[in-house]
Amino acid sequence: MIPRYIIDFDLHSLPRTKTDVVVIGAGIAGLYTALRISEYADVMLISKKGLDDSNTRWAQGGIAAVTTKSDSPALHRQDTLIAGAGLCSYEAVEVLVHEGPERLKELIAYGTEFDKDAQGRYELTKEGAHSKRRILHAHGDATGAEIVRALSKRTLEQPNITVLENHFAIDVVTQDDECVGVVVMKPDGEIFFIESNATVLATGGAGQLYRYTTNPDIATADGIAIAYRAGARIKDVEFIQFHPTALYYPGAPRFLISEAVRGEGAILRNSNGERFMDKYHPQKELAPRDIVARAIVSEMEKTNSPYVYLDITHESEELIKHRFPTIYKFCLKYGLDMVTDWIPVAPACHYIMGGVQTDLNGETSTRRLFACGEVSCTGVHGANRLASNSLSEAVVFGHRIAERIKQLSPHQGARPFSAREEKRASRTVNTMEQRVKLQKLMLRHVGLKRQEKGLVKAMDEMERMGRYFYYHYREREAFEFLNLLTGAMLTTKASLLREESRGGHYRIDFPNKDDLIWRKHIIQSIHEGVREESDLSNVE
Ligand SMILES: Cc1cc2nc3c(=O)[nH]c(=O)nc-3n(C[C@H](O)[C@H](O)[C@H](O)COP(=O)(O)OP(=O)(O)OC[C@H]3O[C@@H](n4cnc5c(N)ncnc54)[C@H](O)[C@@H]3O)c2cc1C
Repeated sequence: MIPRYIIDFDLHSLPRTKTDVVVIGAGIAGLYTALRISEYADVMLISKKGLDDSNTRWAQGGIAAVTTKSDSPALHRQDTLIAGAGLCSYEAVEVLVHEGPERLKELIAYGTEFDKDAQGRYELTKEGAHSKRRILHAHGDATGAEIVRALSKRTLEQPNITVLENHFAIDVVTQDDECVGVVVMKPDGEIFFIESNATVLATGGAGQLYRYTTNPDIATADGIAIAYRAGARIKDVEFIQFHPTALYYPGAPRFLISEAVRGEGAILRNSNGERFMDKYHPQKELAPRDIVARAIVSEMEKTNSPYVYLDITHESEELIKHRFPTIYKFCLKYGLDMVTDWIPVAPACHYIMGGVQTDLNGETSTRRLFACGEVSCTGVHGANRLASNSLSEAVVFGHRIAERIKQLSPHQGARPFSAREEKRASRTVNTMEQRVKLQKLMLRHVGLKRQEKGLVKAMDEMERMGRYFYYHYREREAFEFLNLLTGAMLTTKASLLREESRGGHYRIDFPNKDDLIWRKHIIQSIHEGVREESDLSNVE
């Protein structure tokens, strides 16, 4: 059903340009990797929107790395492995915890200003499932915006980085199983080809798979779908993290109320005002996110309410306003004062643990195609991500990608060919309507609680949607819908296959973790189909 390329083109007649490396995406992964590669090569950095429109821009809590003597890489590793519920790659986690501190210094050298205390030491906060205070943050709860500000400024100053905003990457081109460049749509709709020696997917996440998400509009699983069509392996995409506490208020978006609010002592109460997390986990409000999210849903069901409350009213006004200025102001816009009011919250899709499978140098199973940041599956997060590890992962593996690409020999050059496949064309459909329909389907059947019946129903419906899709569109919305549909099918298929509950995947019909059978990864490839791979490499 899914064609190799989603548009027809003749490579010899397409307008073309050439560069050393194309980086697709301008969040932390794309900006940082482009900057590092620009130290030795020319880079084209493309982003389907502006430089300030990414998941990174909205990151609040901070970035995790070991920076004090009372902490250690071994402790950071242990916390990460426990959160990952038996499916992290031990080697990838080792890389993260040992290389994170150096990369953090580079972010600072690039101009990122993290918050400091009165003595000039970096202020460290603690988030769910971290055993130590090791999260650096900026402007209280605006860490991502500060990182984007600093890295974008550097990027725009760099003469050998060409920034192409509002350019949409449609597909990467492969020849002899190597990636030789990208087909891109300009803002005016013109399509052209960028030939490159290496291509880095840094396209971010897939939150738009669900009706309720903390992710902005750009998070449409483009990178996962592009890589899948190109033949790269996709791993662990059934593991989706739902953030337990997104604002639930009529007329307001699902704005994230950071975990750091609970880290600073906020309490969860059901709609009857009762604190409940002690019934679910010894770490109470700071238990792993999936546990907190499902506990909230159970309380919502019990009390027949679409939300629970987050209560930080016992903390001082000064602390709340200093640590959470963005969240405080956002809530106040809707008449909710965190100093005096309990904040209504509910879970929303937040992060995808799986993605395009990479090795420890960020290279995918397709040569010369790399993946960095949320689009990738390096193995760091396993079945569930430890809070604030994703920003660190992006820079740690971005650095490794830059080092690996430096060693690549030039490829032969892209040969002319025609991408013209039999693509099913049917009736015209409204892609925005279809997108909402898909998001609702995912929320209902492939959300926080899943079961066979619902998953089969969702898969059937998705196949029907695919059959009716008209493949000759040339609009961004249609490409995004197709990418979402591909991402949704991959997530649903893996969720159906995994008959157990672990991390960000919960099956009502298989509620227990099953290490005997399911200490495995699910890997999907357009060429090889679906495959299970045992993983006994990591320890908890
Ligand atoms: C509200 C919120 C709060 C968070 N808080 C934290 C936190 O405190 N700590 C933490 O570690 N993590 C946090 N996360 C997760 C973290 O922010 C993301 O995982 C991380 O920023 C992803 O970075 P990225 O560079 O991989 O992708 P993104 O930042 O999402 O960037 C993706 C880029 O790719 C571009 N793109 C996508 N598709 C295409 C295409 N087809 N063509 C061209 N360009 C394309 C987009 O335009 C964008 O520029 C948070 C996430 C959210 C949503």
